Amino acid sequence: MKLIFATNNRHKVDEIKSIINQEIEIITLKEAGITIEIPEPYDTLEANAGEKSKTIYRLTGLNCFSEDTGLEVKALGGEPGVKSARYAGTERSFDNNIRKLLHNLQEKTDRSARFRTVISLIIDGKETLFEGISEGKIITGKKGAGGFGYDPVFIPEGAIKTFAEMSLQEKNLFSHRKKAVEKLVAFLNNFNSNH
Ligand code: IMP
Repeated sequence: MKLIFATNNRHKVDEIKSIINQEIEIITLKEAGITIEIPEPYDTLEANAGEKSKTIYRLTGLNCFSEDTGLEVKALGGEPGVKSARYAGTERSFDNNIRKLLHNLQEKTDRSARFRTVISLIIDGKETLFEGISEGKIITGKKGAGGFGYDPVFIPEGAIKTFAEMSLQEKNLFSHRKKAVEKLVAFLNNFNSNH
């Protein structure tokens, strides 16, 4: 089965390709020759993921999926959440976003947070959603050079390293994206055996 992955984020493509088995062929937007910036206009991860996959389905008529991820920090009432990419401004700077997050958490004792990923899959025009959550905490300064986004300040529950200090394989032991993709793969395997 071939699926377009509706993202321009190279890190997400690498992570998802490291999880998905070979029976499912992932085609990136670049490989499909699509160069548009997909809008994320809504205030929930579900609605934004749906907007991205529906936009690509409308353009191509091909089966596809997208994902939207947010970092939800308890002491900040769930922020940055759906605004995670543009927390510190429209330029989407990872460094500035982390700086703002650490600043806003300075006086807080509860540093618990979670990443939440929502995948929207469109098969033959019909949408199905999948969710993956990684619980953890925000540390006080950046650690590690791998990964992307908020990885250098997030330690998942049960780990002693940040996501940015882990290999892709280690991150996959805890990752929100991995959990959501596992549900997607189970659904697709079931779908394939029934069609
Ligand atoms: P979006 O799903 O592309 O809107 O991602 C929102 C933002 O969340 C990204 O720009 C990253 O800053 C952050 N983000 C998404 N996934 C991860 C992750 O796995 N680790 C760290 N940050 C992430």
